[in-house]
Amino acid sequence: MQITNVFGGERIPLSFEIFPPKGELPLEEARDVLAELTKLDPAFVSVTYSAGGGGNNERTSEIAQLGQDTFNLNMMAHLTCMGATRASIQENIDLMKARGVENVLALRGDPIPGKDTTDYQYAKDLIPQLREAGFCVGAAAYPEGHAACLDVDEDVRYLKEKQDAGAQFFVTQLFFDNRFAYKFLDKCRAARIRVPITFGIMPFMSKAQVSRMVFMCGASLPSPLVKVLARWEHDPESLRKAGIEYACKQLIGLAQHGVDGVHLYSMNKPDVAREITEAVRPYL
Ligand code: FAD
Repeated sequence: MQITNVFGGERIPLSFEIFPPKGELPLEEARDVLAELTKLDPAFVSVTYSAGGGGNNERTSEIAQLGQDTFNLNMMAHLTCMGATRASIQENIDLMKARGVENVLALRGDPIPGKDTTDYQYAKDLIPQLREAGFCVGAAAYPEGHAACLDVDEDVRYLKEKQDAGAQFFVTQLFFDNRFAYKFLDKCRAARIRVPITFGIMPFMSKAQVSRMVFMCGASLPSPLVKVLARWEHDPESLRKAGIEYACKQLIGLAQHGVDGVHLYSMNKPDVAREITEAVRPYL
């Protein structure tokens, strides 16, 4: 099913992101994760794409197909265009079509050392090609602005360009302070961004993970979160519990604000996804 159809109903859709497992048996691992996530009745499950030569980029569409065919899930494949040529993207399109993928998240990707920008400079350059191929196409949004863009208003203008290029919905970057999401939503509406926006939340499990996220995506750390990290830093079980509680609070706050959708960065941890889903479902 096209993901645009999950928005606008009586309930706020809850979706999950997974990544292609890196182990010896990635498809079997993915099958186990998908089997567990299926029990949580997600609106859709998205699968990340790695263009960095990790050898798992073909896995993205394979896992999307697995989710659709075996578990009857709505799946979305991510696709990046940084360093790609139109021909290599066309190969990916053909592969995704052959595997029955209907939904694609169009991304630029992060710069790849040694690979120059070729046929695509920004995600908006990829979107029309995917729409022409018949996919339902989403793109990335950044409530605090993209890490390389110092001005959120400017970033929102670029987001509008993605909508104008054909993006049919947006999925946001993680953030730890909902106030950024609410301000961002106002800016989007003022900029005539009308497509649904689903807000991505990542439950923190360790201080190292939070530091990585802060440096990778420029997410701000509100003081309640810093206090939680300081308090439970050396107690992994309590920190995990606190991370789940914090994510639940964020998701419930977003639902009460009336957002179009919420998206959980599941980190391939269905047990965490289950605890969070059970806690927030009554609010969605
Ligand atoms: P763009 O929208 O092209 O933006 C990139 C930069 O260019 C931004 O700084 C933007 O402000 C600027 N910009 C945009 N348009 C213009 C313009 N017209 N003029 C000047 N500047 C402009 N990465 C992966 O490798 N694999 C994944 O699976 C993946 N999944 C993701 C899922 C989500 C929900 C999100 C939020 C991010 C994901 N990423 C993934 C990370 C993403 O690839 C990076 O954040 C990347 O740096 C930017 O991608 P983009 O598609 O947002 O790029």
